[in-house]
Amino acid sequence: MSQMNATLPLLGFAAWSGTGKTTLLEAMLPELVARGIRVAVVKHAHHNFDIDKEGKDSYRLRKAGAGQILISSRYRRALITETPDAEASLPELIAQLDQTQLDLILVEGFKQLNFPKIELHRQEVGKPWLHPDDPNIIAVAANVAADTELPQLDINNLTQITDFVVNFARQPQASGLSCSDFGTMPSVDGAMLSVDESRTRILDQIVPVDATQTVSLKQALGQIVATDILSPVNVPQQTNSAMDGYAIRGDDLDREHYRVVAQVMAGHHYDQPLQAGEAVRIMTGAPVPEHADTVIMREQAAQEGDMVTFDLSQSRVKRGQNVRQAGEDLALGQTAVAAGTKVTAPELGMIASLGIDTVAINRPVTVAIFSTGDEVQHPGEAQKANCIYDSNRYTLHAMLTNLGCEVRDLGIIEDNQAALEATLMQASQQADVILSSGGVSVGDADYIKTALAKLGEVNFWRINMRPGRPMAFGQIQQIPFFGLPGNPVAVMVAFLQFVEPAIRKLQGHTWQPTVLSARAAEPFRSRPGRTEFSRGIYQLDANGRLTVKSTGQQGSGILRSMSEANCLVEITPEQPGAEIGEMVKIIPLIGRL
Ligand code: AMP
Ligand code: MG
Repeated sequence: MSQMNATLPLLGFAAWSGTGKTTLLEAMLPELVARGIRVAVVKHAHHNFDIDKEGKDSYRLRKAGAGQILISSRYRRALITETPDAEASLPELIAQLDQTQLDLILVEGFKQLNFPKIELHRQEVGKPWLHPDDPNIIAVAANVAADTELPQLDINNLTQITDFVVNFARQPQASGLSCSDFGTMPSVDGAMLSVDESRTRILDQIVPVDATQTVSLKQALGQIVATDILSPVNVPQQTNSAMDGYAIRGDDLDREHYRVVAQVMAGHHYDQPLQAGEAVRIMTGAPVPEHADTVIMREQAAQEGDMVTFDLSQSRVKRGQNVRQAGEDLALGQTAVAAGTKVTAPELGMIASLGIDTVAINRPVTVAIFSTGDEVQHPGEAQKANCIYDSNRYTLHAMLTNLGCEVRDLGIIEDNQAALEATLMQASQQADVILSSGGVSVGDADYIKTALAKLGEVNFWRINMRPGRPMAFGQIQQIPFFGLPGNPVAVMVAFLQFVEPAIRKLQGHTWQPTVLSARAAEPFRSRPGRTEFSRGIYQLDANGRLTVKSTGQQGSGILRSMSEANCLVEITPEQPGAEIGEMVKIIPLIGRL
């Protein structure tokens, strides 16, 4: 939790609205102060609020454009910071507090985040318990018994709750959210990581699959070669003719006539050493006879009976011309295909050319995928009101298959924590990697992160990029898990940026994505600090320079933009955007989708 830079105990209250959170806090604060505990409260508001009143100077100055306004008097000061682009994260808010003046930070709201909380529960509110689904709850304060091993407090007994809070504040292990205190909880709740940092953190967690298998040559297509394939032969086996023509000796180039002593077809040979004054009529691919090392093409030759003459007015004969040397493609013992190479058409052909028909490959990586969301439907079903068809499992299936993975499709899972947990557990038994889509933002039905925190480990979940900002990454039973966003374009971009590099590392594939630089043919907008991926079309302009334009509308649900694109345009965090004519980074998609 290095990003959560509080060095103080942090405690929250989790409750349904109507339970009386603020009332309890209001009653408890004087008690805490009386016991000498200096308290800060961080409160989350769902609505837009104004803290200063209309007409006041600070209000007028802020509305006039001050991004931050600091107002101070003899008794208090207030800093009002406008955050038009994104809400501050809890760590950012905590960083604003003067922790030297505090003993305890109480948090109201932020219930999706992971830090210790007391659950407040009143039976008459008629809402379910929160602790079964929130591993961060450390005690329950209620007016009815809960079925839990957690400490239980009486919500109407202020002294009892205050005692618990004071104890918590004084426990040494409660102080400081500085790493291991919260074990398996998300480590950087709310903190934004850069794309590069996220990828590095992910790749650090990935250990290549250490298993190989031998398959027939065609089955090796798309897989990763496990050990160097050495050439058991010379390719070509013998020095042979690259042309249909006449083979002569290289030390016998200046004659008027040669006597044709034989004709050699591909697959045959002339078994005599060639003498001065002799030629053999030879076909492409046929081995040149002993001493012959030069071929004159048939178009330059005139044969009469068994005598041949050459018309060399157009080009002089060079010794060694028009022959392919034995071993010039691959010499005996040379590495033909290195371990870590993906077998594509040329490798398949090259391995075949060595006479090899089986290949040791790294075992294919198995990936379990599922979609989440009560609104997500299977294609082929009659469309229900307010629903959308699942596209994410199909784009994922395609990209994974393209990577040579075996896909286990676990279907669509409803927005329900128990169902998600069961699916994640099942997936971790079956696969090397687990991918889900949806349910990772901070909406009320977004359970992925809590499920992951409960079953395994969440490493981070917000990335400073667009599209694809919310993403969970973690491990369940040592199996890497990616909680991808729900929006179809965001899924694909996050896959290309994070999942694909991880899978290639698991596969043991030696790989780097292709990145090019192109001139912007239209302006690309971004925000400093954020990586912005637009879908682009690159091509050569009239001057032969690479230029790139966008595919038009860039909404993260507009899958058509992905279909029309041949590249992603990456506006890096340092770039405020790009004007026409500026150079931008492009990531070609050819071969990756
Ligand atoms: P969520 O993060 O679950 O709120 O999802 C974000 C958006 O992506 C919502 O508009 C969802 O309806 C949409 N979405 C989620 N899953 C899928 C899916 N499998 N296929 C297409 N759209 C989806
Ligand atoms: Mg959803």
